[in-house]
Amino acid sequence: MKIHAIQTGTVTIKSRQVEGEGHGARRLLNTFVDREWTDPLPIYAFAIEHPEGVIVVDTGETARASQPGYFPRWHPYFRLSVRSHVTPDDEIGPQLRGLGINGGEVRWVVLTHMHTDHAGGLHHFPRTEILASRADIAIASAWRGRVRGYPNNRFPSWFDPKPIDLAQQPSGPFPQSLSLTAAGDVTLVPLHGHTPGQLGVVVDEGDHRVFLAGDASYRQDLMLRGAIDGIAPDEQAAAETLRRIQAFVAERPTVYLVAHDPETAARLDTRSVVEGDSGGDAVKSLA
Ligand SMILES: [Zn+2]
Repeated sequence: MKIHAIQTGTVTIKSRQVEGEGHGARRLLNTFVDREWTDPLPIYAFAIEHPEGVIVVDTGETARASQPGYFPRWHPYFRLSVRSHVTPDDEIGPQLRGLGINGGEVRWVVLTHMHTDHAGGLHHFPRTEILASRADIAIASAWRGRVRGYPNNRFPSWFDPKPIDLAQQPSGPFPQSLSLTAAGDVTLVPLHGHTPGQLGVVVDEGDHRVFLAGDASYRQDLMLRGAIDGIAPDEQAAAETLRRIQAFVAERPTVYLVAHDPETAARLDTRSVVEGDSGGDAVKSLA
């Protein structure tokens, strides 16, 4: 199966967002007051050329996010903690066309979660069925959603995602799952923590699988260390999710791809699976 990593520009965030410090409300505060910025990090979305139709996982960021006034100035996160750089050609629509994929022929868009840098390219998919978890749709809606950091006033007016409820069907260490394709080779799994209903997409390629894990961690090494980010509202859920991912990648060879890891495209290209060497003790101990 052809899987494309599509980089829709970059985002610069606080170092403490990538790896949180402290616990509870303190952890969020530490992220806001952090003076240290990361290097520009990629914003990845993905396209899977599946026999049943093209599946797009996340839509990246829009070029409009680089313009002043796009994000609400009253919101401390957007005002103080994030800077994105996206050109019109970086957006997912033109990049899909460059790959020979017309937005109209995309069968499904799966939003791992609805943060701006995953939902910024929605306007390229007006005729596609868009799926998101029921919990994340609820959390991102209305004025409360905007306070929580979802600029839903920028979502297209037609945007009405289909709420996904996972089935009580375990998939390895994940207690629920849902098969997206009739062939059963693309599966949604729960990655609660970074957001209440974050979804992961697992593509079975036979002797290995490719795991599109949203923002479950900002890099692979942080997942292996069980390091929680600096903005996840539920620290316990985030920790549990990382333990499940560690167990999952220890079960079978898995290429682990998250949206802001600078190594994501290279690991996808070479189908580089999570190895047990650097930091792999965490994996082995759970195996
Ligand atoms: Zn996110």
